[in-house]
Amino acid sequence: MRTSNYLLSTLKESPAEAVLESHKLMVRAGYIRKLASGLYTWLPTGLAVLKKVEDIIRDEMAKAGCVELLMPFVQPADLWKESGRWIHYGPELCRFKDRHNVDFVLGPTHEEVITALARNEIKSYKQLPLNLYHIQTKFRDEIRPRFGVMRAREFIMKDGYSFDLTTEGLQKSYRKMYRAYSNIFTRLGLDFRAVQADTGSIGGSSSHEFQVLADAGEDVVAFASGSDYASNIELTECLEPKTPRAPATKPMCTVPTPGCHTVDEVASLLKVPANTIAKTIVVVGEKKDPEDKGPAPLIAIVLCGNQTLNEVKCEKIEGVKAPLEFATSEQINAFLGCHPGSIGPVKFPGKIIVDRTAAHMADFYCGANHDGEHLSGVNWDRDVPEYTVADVRNIEEGDPSPDGHGTIVLKRGIEVGHIFALHTKYSDAMQCTVLNEEGKPVNMEMGCYGIGVTRVVAAAVEQHHDENGIIMPETIAPFNVTIVPMNMKKSEKVRDFCEKAYKELTAAGIDVLFDDRSERPGVMFADMELIGAPRMLVVGERDLEKDQVEIRYRASGERKSVSASDAVRTIISEVKAALGELNSKAKPQEE
Ligand code: ATP
Ligand code: MG
Repeated sequence: MRTSNYLLSTLKESPAEAVLESHKLMVRAGYIRKLASGLYTWLPTGLAVLKKVEDIIRDEMAKAGCVELLMPFVQPADLWKESGRWIHYGPELCRFKDRHNVDFVLGPTHEEVITALARNEIKSYKQLPLNLYHIQTKFRDEIRPRFGVMRAREFIMKDGYSFDLTTEGLQKSYRKMYRAYSNIFTRLGLDFRAVQADTGSIGGSSSHEFQVLADAGEDVVAFASGSDYASNIELTECLEPKTPRAPATKPMCTVPTPGCHTVDEVASLLKVPANTIAKTIVVVGEKKDPEDKGPAPLIAIVLCGNQTLNEVKCEKIEGVKAPLEFATSEQINAFLGCHPGSIGPVKFPGKIIVDRTAAHMADFYCGANHDGEHLSGVNWDRDVPEYTVADVRNIEEGDPSPDGHGTIVLKRGIEVGHIFALHTKYSDAMQCTVLNEEGKPVNMEMGCYGIGVTRVVAAAVEQHHDENGIIMPETIAPFNVTIVPMNMKKSEKVRDFCEKAYKELTAAGIDVLFDDRSERPGVMFADMELIGAPRMLVVGERDLEKDQVEIRYRASGERKSVSASDAVRTIISEVKAALGELNSKAKPQEE
């Protein structure tokens, strides 16, 4: 590429709304441009990176025996009604009608379409196992699109689906994908971990997320200090405290707490630590009879005052409405006659769920279900006879690891991939059968496997940048080298050298950006550093007279003078070595 015939589109300023470095830099480096909330155009430099990510994905998919196809973005609602997700998916699903008044959706994922395809095309067990994937646009009407392409509304996903006759077959397919995904993220040069995950709205039993470790990540991953256990905190089990609950020693009394609504306010007024106060959160329960027009039942969730609610665990509890819905102030007032900051379990007129740790509190404080008052000296069983104990809080640093090996350390992560063993969730719902060896129809065992291809680019930038811009790993750099000539207009020698180097490097399969703009050197250096190429070839007349050129390395900042006649050869062998090093870390897909 020559800059004069390219859309470099670099910017000095980042957009005001951008908070993450990756978002700021992707805009400044001319990778992406915002069209509207959560909708982005990929500019040529960003697209060059995106395509390299896709190439690596396709290569590893092929090595794992997967087959590429392409399904439509627009999907008939009928399939979603068959799977049941027309009702359960919620407002992220963008629904619309065509001119004939028929319902459609913009695909947020493709389980329905692939299951419909498989039930028609796969007839016999002899066609199994089969793993089909595509790399394609998705739309999810995210409640808060943010961080650029990290959480967009329209984005590109690689989604793949495996079909097997048996559970053992599915487990084998799952392991293959686990290995393929590990290889992909390794070759992309990302510092990542595979962690156990919740199965969310897709359903199924086992599931792993591939998390790129970064402080800017939206997810929190719990690691055990004494083993390789890692899980998304959405899922991480908090064990029951080992020490028995202390006996009740105090009588229950009312204490005035005027104007106090939060645990912190009550703690500072009463001069007691937050872990002696029980925090009560009210959520909406499921109606026993869906036809019932009356108000939904409300459920109290009680936590230790210094701990936080885990919404994913909470919505899995029987009787709690999913997706989780917090009771509004109005609902609480109508139900209890008080405001949200004054709720407590004593005489709560509904179901009470107590967290495992909170169930070990004794002589504690809690809301009195009366504004301006709390209770002290409260004890389970004596003052609250009926309640259910469950694990509903988020794990915290220092808590014992659920696998029994050491304590928990928390780190933030960006979820770039997710694999699920779906089993027969969709094949049951959509009658996706295959004839087994006895000629009997059986529901196929399915797995689904996703990579946020566009999010991967943002995650890579988040992990690889400095104050001067992006520093891409060799395998996904938009250019392996940029050529920056000094005063090319005036120097025929510089121009001839650069033209020749550009042709030779390009012919050797190296991706080159030749900055032939005749800009001031400072401008060219800044731009070429910003866009993320691993090295820059700087060519000046004075150097050339001594048969010298300079190679500048983006990651280390090192500058190296090399003989002009060796420069091209040096760059080719360095690029190949760097590509080879990252790619060779991938593990073979042996059985
Ligand atoms: P998240 O928890 O981040 O919303 P998810 O669980 O909804 O992710 P999946 O349904 O598993 O995501 O989708 C597969 C992959 O697609 C994710 O691992 C992620 O990398 C990517 N992805 C999901 N939502 C978005 C989005 N709004 N923008 C960009 N990429 C996304
Ligand atoms: Mg999501």
